[in-house]
Amino acid sequence: MGKALIIGCGGVAGVAINKCCQNSDVFEDIMIASRTKSKCDALKAKLDGGKTRISTAKVDADNVDELVALINSYKPDVVLNLALPYQDLTIMDACLATKTHYVDTANYEPIDNAKFEYKWQWDYRERFEKAGITAILGSGFDPGVTGVYSAYALKHHFDEINYIDILDCNGGDHGYPFATNFNPEINIREVTANGSYWEDGKWIETEPMAIKREYDFKSVGMKDMYLLHHEEIESLALNMPGIKRIRFFMTFGQSYITHLKCLENVGMTSIEPINYEGKQIVPLQFLRAMLPDPASLGPRTVGKTNIGCIFRGKKDGVDKTYYLYNICDHQECYREVESQAISYTTGVPAMIGAMMVLNGNWVKPGVHNIEEMDPDAFMDALNKWGLPWEEDFAPVLVD
Ligand code: NDP
Repeated sequence: MGKALIIGCGGVAGVAINKCCQNSDVFEDIMIASRTKSKCDALKAKLDGGKTRISTAKVDADNVDELVALINSYKPDVVLNLALPYQDLTIMDACLATKTHYVDTANYEPIDNAKFEYKWQWDYRERFEKAGITAILGSGFDPGVTGVYSAYALKHHFDEINYIDILDCNGGDHGYPFATNFNPEINIREVTANGSYWEDGKWIETEPMAIKREYDFKSVGMKDMYLLHHEEIESLALNMPGIKRIRFFMTFGQSYITHLKCLENVGMTSIEPINYEGKQIVPLQFLRAMLPDPASLGPRTVGKTNIGCIFRGKKDGVDKTYYLYNICDHQECYREVESQAISYTTGVPAMIGAMMVLNGNWVKPGVHNIEEMDPDAFMDALNKWGLPWEEDFAPVLVD
């Protein structure tokens, strides 16, 4: 059906690329392009031999001219951005210059300011519309599947949704005292930032990890979870009619919290450069270099993830509650694509988002968050491609 240029070749891209190759009727031809070409070549060597044609390239995705040259030579139908949030705008610029559709999994974040917001990418709306190209923002799990779940709940179960609690539980154990399940720099920037939630039309900000709850997750058990700021709150607050409150909770074990606190206390999570022996280094980037590569956690991680949304609202004038979630097993993911479940739960929806553009289902010029699109075909694809969803009409609520 089409050609996809996939930028980045880390944990998430590894899964998405595996899945593109499983879905070769749609992904006839893919190019894997990243900063370190040897990683792209190693993945190609593993996956070659199927029906999807694979090529590789080296690209610096911070450089618009390089990206434009690569897109002009390969001529993809869609660019799937699985590099880091810092590269979102340069890749969107290159897509505009070449009139190519764009899909990503995380919103733009300036490297020198750990603040992620949609405003930079929403600024491209008119330009994408005029160019006749589609951008789908946030096609991972959260953001991503959480937005699709919200659109599905609104379409099929509610007249209005008033409350959304997004619960992200990782019950996996990798055996290290401290490691992150996706890019350590991005992960630590996210969890050390102030928490916030949306209530009655405004943001309520909290100290980092200040709000803690316990929840008994199906197939995982009782876990501590903490309220975080998360990017999909910003777009769901605009796109869900009647919304009164949206919160996001993520589970963390005690060892993770203790290590993080200690690293924070000594300044290792700072993004302010310091002078070390005549060289400027960013403590968080140095820490990242010390931590295990998330892509290496696959063989040693056991347990399950359970991620989903609890919706409360009204249907035909009656109060209604609805919980949609997915349970994913780390070791099953590893057996299938040699990855742990965090990369898997992000890489599968990334492939599906690109498929929705390639097959024309979601082609709509402009820049769109995922919950703005019709969710039904995406929900079917989740069941088909490895992230089946479950529903509960009487879940325990979070106070
Ligand atoms: P990794 O660090 O494992 O991979 C990032 C990849 O991008 C690496 O291959 C890296 O190259 C490449 N890269 C970085 N900078 C550049 C550049 N300037 N030019 C070209 N390539 C570059 O990260 P993950 O796979 O864990 O995460 C990928 C994305 O997915 C991130 O944006 C993350 O925020 C997002 N994510 C989204 C989730 C969701 O649910 N929505 C959940 C988890 C992650 P190199 O190999 O040389 O380092």
